[in-house]
Amino acid sequence: MIAERVRAEAAAGAAAFRARHGRAPGLHAVLVGEDQASMVYVRNKEKAAKEAGFAGEVHRLPQSISERVLHQLVLDLNARDDVDGVLVQLPLPSGIRSGLILAAVDPAKDVDGFHAMNVGALWSGQRALVPCTPRGCIRLLRAGDVKIDGARAVVVGRSNIVGKPVAALLLAENATVTIAHSRTTDLPAVCREADILVAAVGRAKMIRGDWLKPGGAVIDVGMNRDESGKLCGDVDFDSAVEVAGVITPVPGGVGLMTVAMLLDNTLIAARQRMGEGSG
Ligand code: NAP
Repeated sequence: MIAERVRAEAAAGAAAFRARHGRAPGLHAVLVGEDQASMVYVRNKEKAAKEAGFAGEVHRLPQSISERVLHQLVLDLNARDDVDGVLVQLPLPSGIRSGLILAAVDPAKDVDGFHAMNVGALWSGQRALVPCTPRGCIRLLRAGDVKIDGARAVVVGRSNIVGKPVAALLLAENATVTIAHSRTTDLPAVCREADILVAAVGRAKMIRGDWLKPGGAVIDVGMNRDESGKLCGDVDFDSAVEVAGVITPVPGGVGLMTVAMLLDNTLIAARQRMGEGSG
């Protein structure tokens, strides 16, 4: 529902941008190899971008591509005026240094928000392109009328793409934030303190209902397969839904928001590149 609204707003924004500039915002994705999950994610992003009237394409490259050629492709996309957003789907093949490729993306086109310039800008409260999944988490909390200001928030997971940026966003909204991880002692007790719990672990159904504060908000970022191969989150939905005040499902929760926020980020990047401010 909320993801559909964000996508509709992005489509309207893209149409207005096109009317002003004679071209649609351009989103370019780079996909290396044939990782099944990455192929599905990129296809979903491509479809959403097309439906919203964005320009751009997916650059599909073989697993055997060299780091040098991939690096050059990123530089070429940086140099093109019609390209507003560049995303390099991770993971990259083991022979390619992801850090080097991500650092090559122009920070102004870094719609994934992974470039160190954007990471630093986010943590220091400056204007930044912010990673899509964490932005989606905050939008979901707002859509659920969850009070962030003053809340105790626990983020389980400290990855650069989810855990850390979602913690930065919660902090910026005046939550008191704890970041938990695999070395946290007594994780259930830490989770039970959370008015807002964000699970970004990658372990099927690890967080159970009896780990939760009654009435708390639970945002489940996890995308895992359960024992029967079904898509599921990091939270055991059946027990958690009995305790939580608000909880996002998997599938149908954060995943949809990630794609929607990618369109929004592309629009933000396009507007900023055209000197229109953060609009
Ligand atoms: P990641 O890089 O593997 O990080 C996982 C984090 O969880 C690490 O910080 C790790 O701690 C922590 N962790 C692992 N086992 C733990 C345990 N038993 N107790 C407490 N913490 C534990 O994963 P990620 O990229 O952040 O992704 C997390 C999940 O979100 C995955 O299921 C992924 O598929 C999903 N995801 C979904 C979307 C979406 O759009 N819905 C987007 C991105 C990711 P250490 O740092 O100590 O190792």
